[in-house]
Amino acid sequence: MRKINQVQKVVDSTINTGFKFDNSYVEQLAGFYVPFAGDRAPEPELIKLNRPLAEELGLDLVHLQAEDIAKIFSGNVMSQGAAPVAQVYAGHQFGGFSPQLGDGRALLLGEVIDSSGKRRDIHLKGSGRTPFSRGGDGKAALGPMLREYIISEAMFALNIPTTRALAVVGTGEKVIRDSGLLPGAVFARVAASHIRVGTFEYFSARHETDKIKQLADYTIQRHYPELKLKQKENQSKNPYLALISEVRDRQASLLARWMLMGFIHGVMNTDNMTITGETIDYGPCAFMDSYDPATVFSSIDRQGRYAYQNQPPIGQWNLARLAETLLPFVHSDPDTAVELATHEINLFSERYQQYWLDGMRSKLGFSTKEADDHRLANELLQAMEGQDVDFTQLFRRLADSLRGDIECIRNLFDDFEKFDQWHERWLERLVRDPMSVDDRIASMNCVNPVYIPRNHKVEEAIQAAEAESNFAPFEKLVEVLANPFEERDSLDEYEEPAPDSFPPYKTFCGT
Ligand code: AMP
Ligand code: MG
Repeated sequence: MRKINQVQKVVDSTINTGFKFDNSYVEQLAGFYVPFAGDRAPEPELIKLNRPLAEELGLDLVHLQAEDIAKIFSGNVMSQGAAPVAQVYAGHQFGGFSPQLGDGRALLLGEVIDSSGKRRDIHLKGSGRTPFSRGGDGKAALGPMLREYIISEAMFALNIPTTRALAVVGTGEKVIRDSGLLPGAVFARVAASHIRVGTFEYFSARHETDKIKQLADYTIQRHYPELKLKQKENQSKNPYLALISEVRDRQASLLARWMLMGFIHGVMNTDNMTITGETIDYGPCAFMDSYDPATVFSSIDRQGRYAYQNQPPIGQWNLARLAETLLPFVHSDPDTAVELATHEINLFSERYQQYWLDGMRSKLGFSTKEADDHRLANELLQAMEGQDVDFTQLFRRLADSLRGDIECIRNLFDDFEKFDQWHERWLERLVRDPMSVDDRIASMNCVNPVYIPRNHKVEEAIQAAEAESNFAPFEKLVEVLANPFEERDSLDEYEEPAPDSFPPYKTFCGT
């Protein structure tokens, strides 16, 4: 790691926030980070606090005022017990390896034990330059931080594993981006941890084998303790091979959930893939409106590497990059190690298909399993292709069609002939599936959302905040998305895809 001189950064003071810090990463993994402090925000202003999450984490909401909270989550004031650091990692970005990335504009404040005893990282993004900033300014613009807030909390409500949004603080300074001078912000997020595939790759590229082992052991202890237990009882395979298979299953399950909700991450580099299977780093991500497997939103993803349909194989590719770093511990004979690891990696697609099919069965209202379900599910997708059918609305209206309202779903198609044939077969399948109509509709409505973060709504919220400091649309959107499965009368506008006047959606990485 690059040597840095004593860093002169100012933190006004420390304060008792109520957080119970217990910083195992910092204590156990010297050499995996540099202690650092953020830049001082000139005028920190609390824009949004996730109060239920803050309570869960133990933030003292009785004694702390909004100004205090703004100072804490801008990094101007440090929580007692925090040990802020910038973490180092590497990563494959769009297939090419970058040997040194790291927190270029972020700080890990430390780990908090929450009210249920869970250990969780608190992390600031946009807090200033660090030794890993390379050419970047270390800052974040308000718009993308509101975006991360909206989408990560929506993902949580949609039951997709994710980092959580804790707070957004305006810094009172402007940041320079391609589109001009923008209001700056710091985003506070919470994660099971910030260990990435890229963290392993950093040490692997430097042949620091001891460090990889140290990191793997730490990961197992923190996130997969059952592997240690099994090892003690001598009933498991090699723990590092087992780690590969556990991460594989978490990632396969995560990818299936993304696909079932029409979510496109946009920048699935290995530095943006957590070891815990939480979605992380919401940059150019977006939800698809019309079903099209080739959908790409990110303006820099010109080859469509991270297009909707490519996400599962990319998940597997990323897993292979993790597995490579662990080979020296999987087996003493390198050929055997490769063989064993390859076997685990190859199981990714099978696992993914299983998670996806289980999810599809729920979306289609099946309580039983039939051999033909996979084909039936795929045939629905085929019927949707090229038809400009809204992915989210289709599944929701499928349940409505059980009450006889077939027109409302047909209306989604330009040409519904193929869909009609499929619908007949679906109804035949349901006859063999014992459930009352009411129960089936209720069960489908628990997994098929009415409300997702529609791109035009997200943009509307961000623009009002950026241009007029009007946070009402943002607040409303966050509120709607917190309850995505329950249809509410007054919220029609949040159900609809973007109107035709909304230009084809492009997201940008320059956040
Ligand atoms: P991302 O594409 O957001 O996952 O970031 C890739 C790398 O660039 C990470 O190492 C980030 O810390 C770094 N980075 C992104 N934006 C900035 C910025 N404004 N200043 C410094 N580093 C940045
Ligand atoms: Mg990242």
